Amino acid sequence: MNAAAPHHSAKRRFSASAPLDTFDPEESRQVRVPERTSLSFEVMPPRHDADEATIDALLATLQSYNPDYISVTSSRNSGWLEGTARFIEKITASTRIPTLAHLACTAGTREELIGWINRLMDSGVRGLLALRGDLAEGQTEMPAGYLPHATDLINLIQSIEDDQVARFGAGRLAIGVAAYPSGHEESANMDEDIDVLLTKQRLGADFAITQLFFDAEDYLRFAERARLAGVRIPLIPGIMPMTSVARLHRMGQLSGLTVPDRLIRRLEAAGPESEYQTGLDLTAELAQTILAAGAGGMHVYTFNRPDTTTELLDRIGIVPPTTG
Ligand code: FAD
Repeated sequence: MNAAAPHHSAKRRFSASAPLDTFDPEESRQVRVPERTSLSFEVMPPRHDADEATIDALLATLQSYNPDYISVTSSRNSGWLEGTARFIEKITASTRIPTLAHLACTAGTREELIGWINRLMDSGVRGLLALRGDLAEGQTEMPAGYLPHATDLINLIQSIEDDQVARFGAGRLAIGVAAYPSGHEESANMDEDIDVLLTKQRLGADFAITQLFFDAEDYLRFAERARLAGVRIPLIPGIMPMTSVARLHRMGQLSGLTVPDRLIRRLEAAGPESEYQTGLDLTAELAQTILAAGAGGMHVYTFNRPDTTTELLDRIGIVPPTTG
């Protein structure tokens, strides 16, 4: 992928944990632009007082792009998985878009998570993003009775799936996980992030969606290092619209990342009238760079804003298939 990448002989082992049988470092460096670029959206469960027509408009806009799936976040604010399950039922009833539920260990004890997984499967969910969730301020580990890591959640999902495999006609739940191109704030270094990703792959994760990142190079470097270490699952870049200086600061705060000064300066220089447009231009550039480098698709964080999503996709050159 990167012309400056160091050359290694095909026999060399790159990581103590890399699978030796299927690993071909030459192949891992080739940029393969897939025939179909994947497109997926992230939405949040609407607030209880949200206007029904606004939500319908959001779903109609997202559906017009014929996305591969929509993922629905979960948080304390939306009653953990209750809001997620309800929104998934709505999406399933009103669109043709497959859904994926974000499930975090922080949503409840092991026993409560079993209840949530069953509730989600009963709602028609056939894909889960297995996450740990964020620790509360001052917390250093998960409380007793809670699963400590996303890896434990992958195991739990699979054991429930094994018990109920006949319900799926012997099909499987898709399991996604999180990946961190700029590093997870609790990880000692990128090697740890990549080792954890490899472990998730080995446990059965089918794909990863990345945390937001501000520089294309961060994603590309991370993807290359992950491939060289033996990660084969798709690393779907999460793209977050950078629509204002305030949003940039909030994004930095939520992700624990430092927002590059050059981005703040560009938006400040644009002034209040055009910071939104400039921010979308910069986000589109970021997306175009990684797509051109062979990322193969992207996952857009919509914040339930159809207008911003459409304006961003327009700039990237993605239009709804019916009007394109
Ligand atoms: P883990 O994989 O458990 O990693 C957390 C830390 O522990 C890392 O430093 C890792 O290196 C280390 N680690 C991992 N496994 C092990 C192990 N087995 N042994 C020792 N150390 C280990 N949060 C929500 O609450 N709701 C959401 O809807 C949500 N959606 C998200 C969507 C995406 C695309 C992303 C990237 C994140 C999302 N998050 C969400 C945030 C996520 O929960 C946090 O980033 C959280 O801090 C870490 O989650 P994780 O699954 O990566 O945890």
